[in-house]
Amino acid sequence: MQRRTFVKNSLLSLLAMNNLTDLKNLSNTFTSHQGKMPLLFVGHGNPMNAIEDNEYSKKWKAVSAELPKPQAILCVSAHWETRGTFVTAMQKPKTIHDFGGFPQQLFNVQYPANGNPTLAKQIKDDVKTTAVQLDDEWGLDHGCWSVIKQMYPNADIPVLELSLDYTKPAQYHYDLAKELSSLRNKGVFIVGSGNMVHNLRMVNWQNPNGGYDWAEEMNTTFKRLIETNNHKELINYSSLGKAATLAIPTPEHYLPLLYIMGIKEEKEAISFFNDKTMMGSLSMTSVKIETV
Ligand code: ZN
Repeated sequence: MQRRTFVKNSLLSLLAMNNLTDLKNLSNTFTSHQGKMPLLFVGHGNPMNAIEDNEYSKKWKAVSAELPKPQAILCVSAHWETRGTFVTAMQKPKTIHDFGGFPQQLFNVQYPANGNPTLAKQIKDDVKTTAVQLDDEWGLDHGCWSVIKQMYPNADIPVLELSLDYTKPAQYHYDLAKELSSLRNKGVFIVGSGNMVHNLRMVNWQNPNGGYDWAEEMNTTFKRLIETNNHKELINYSSLGKAATLAIPTPEHYLPLLYIMGIKEEKEAISFFNDKTMMGSLSMTSVKIETV
């Protein structure tokens, strides 16, 4: 065997072993995991929440401490918009610092969690109604790592991201989510990260702990629709009137919520945390869904 071929074959064996290990871990999980993993929609807010020990990050830590330890995390982040739907498929996703004007301390943050190429491939195969594409260029943006780092600071759980296809309507995202639901039985923790109310143009720096009337109104409306399983109105949010138009001037921070609602089963329990508007035009309200 020529040396080059030998090296290539050795590399391929190593890669195959990696995949086999991934596969073994997944199938072990499948047999050992009891019940479904809970689901989470998290209002991520200011990127500084990644490194501050504040009321929001404290709650993120408290929520993760109550959860069964996931085998992997699939994060639907407001900050990865693409044409087509992609899932990160690299072994080592890089930490993306997709913001400006923050202290160097935040740019220094690395979140060195592994990916899981085998799980990415499985997600691609599971989804039949659209062609999910494997991505090896993105990584983890701050919509994902700012929250996950606080929840799992040891970075010892593989993390994948799913992108938002910005060309598609709300119904597409809700329907696509349903095809991901079996992952919950395999120990995959699905997290949507955005903000239900998110209007950066109208941020009011003078009101750090409150919201405009329309922001409060929509925070209440969204909670009511979530609690009553009124997914139709959540999907057709643009018909909820002027307050909704102000709360969702662009859909990317809202859509991750529809993934969580799409996966949720009717009888599952809903609880809210970080239920609060801030800076006038943002809501940090977050939702936990679990089987009871
Ligand atoms: Zn954001």
